[in-house]
Amino acid sequence: MERFSCEVVAVGTELLLGQIVDTNSSWIGEQLALNGIESYFQTKVGDNPERIKKTLKQAIGRSDFVIVCGGLGPTQDDLTRDVIAEVMGVELVTDEDLVERIAAIFGNRGREMPLNNLRQAQVPVGAETLSVMPGTAPGLKAAINGKTLYAVPGVPWEMKQMVLEDILPDMRAKAGISSIIGSKTLRTWGDSESGLSEKLAQEIERLDQVGGATIAFLASGIEGLKVRLTTKGDSKSEVEDALNAEADIVSSILGDEIIFSYDDQTMEEVVLGICKDKGLTLGVAESLTGGLIGSRLTSVSGSSEVFKGSIVAYSSDVKHAILKTPDVPSVSQAAAEAMAVGACRALNADIGLAVTGEAGPEPLEEEVGRVWMATSVGGVVKSSTVKWPFDRERIRQFTTITVLNALRLRLKEEI
Ligand code: ATP
Ligand code: MG
Repeated sequence: MERFSCEVVAVGTELLLGQIVDTNSSWIGEQLALNGIESYFQTKVGDNPERIKKTLKQAIGRSDFVIVCGGLGPTQDDLTRDVIAEVMGVELVTDEDLVERIAAIFGNRGREMPLNNLRQAQVPVGAETLSVMPGTAPGLKAAINGKTLYAVPGVPWEMKQMVLEDILPDMRAKAGISSIIGSKTLRTWGDSESGLSEKLAQEIERLDQVGGATIAFLASGIEGLKVRLTTKGDSKSEVEDALNAEADIVSSILGDEIIFSYDDQTMEEVVLGICKDKGLTLGVAESLTGGLIGSRLTSVSGSSEVFKGSIVAYSSDVKHAILKTPDVPSVSQAAAEAMAVGACRALNADIGLAVTGEAGPEPLEEEVGRVWMATSVGGVVKSSTVKWPFDRERIRQFTTITVLNALRLRLKEEI
């Protein structure tokens, strides 16, 4: 089947100056991929009519569809509409229906319509306005040399609504695409990307041959290593069934030790969920993570039902005084275990979680990256150690997700 392509042109000098980030283009890019439309180019261009014109001509020359975003507003520096008319070689005419629609929007808000807004009611001869108009800037659609050019405002929420409700259905119809694309993200922890791809190699090869789902890996730091399954189908339910079936296969290969979530939930959401189901409360004592664990846990809404608090016990004095750690080196198994017990006691929690480690760069150079983690569940303390070959920030991040995962595995096995 012939594949259709679409490119995005984002207009605005402020995009070039770094004053705003061009999130519109990346969002549109994602939507195009989901809808089975190729995209080969994304361009940013400043508010300059000659350069916008050149860019649009180039885009129309090499892509089936072009979406230009921004510069459709009412002011003199909003040039997109004028340039489109020039590229089409036509005049702008005032669309009386649009004048009424725009005037009505102002009327509804109890305001006079500034005359400037009449500019927005101008349409190049031969172009259509998009039926979806969330704000006062109408979107445009124009046929140029057998290609289709769509123009949308730069304001993200207006742009998104037009793209989803008007442009994508139009493009899909023109490109003869009826299939639906869906994806499902499994999150894993405890194996490397190469380890995962080795384990899944046979399955990936099988999928290549039968042309079913595709599997992609995405390393996402503290979010885990994501395994994204994507597939196509004729209906939403068909796509969902296929994704669930593929997730079952991947799960039987990798196992639940490695896979911690099947619907893109974070590690902290999963751990809090298990604690909540079992009616258990959680207290944390953290040294090298300096509050990162508590911060991750409290980012989940409703965490207060489970999470009691986190004691940032950074100095040995605080570890002794509040967590009652014995006189042992502060980065040691004994310290971590005592901290987990201390967290339960001090915070009156059922479960205690503790980490202590050497995030570097000083003073114990050869021990940089050494981390001790402990969990206390039902009064039984378990601990483990790891030596990360990373920089300070990654040591802290990886320790956070690793200790939460250790707790997840214990709760799964023991309770
Ligand atoms: P308006 O009617 O508001 O003037 P417009 O079509 O003229 O709309 P712009 O003036 O280019 O759009 O942009 C309006 C606002 O939308 C910008 O101030 C910015 O906040 C946001 N915006 C514009 N382009 C982008 C983009 N590519 N990515 C993200 N946000 C954008
Ligand atoms: Mg504007």
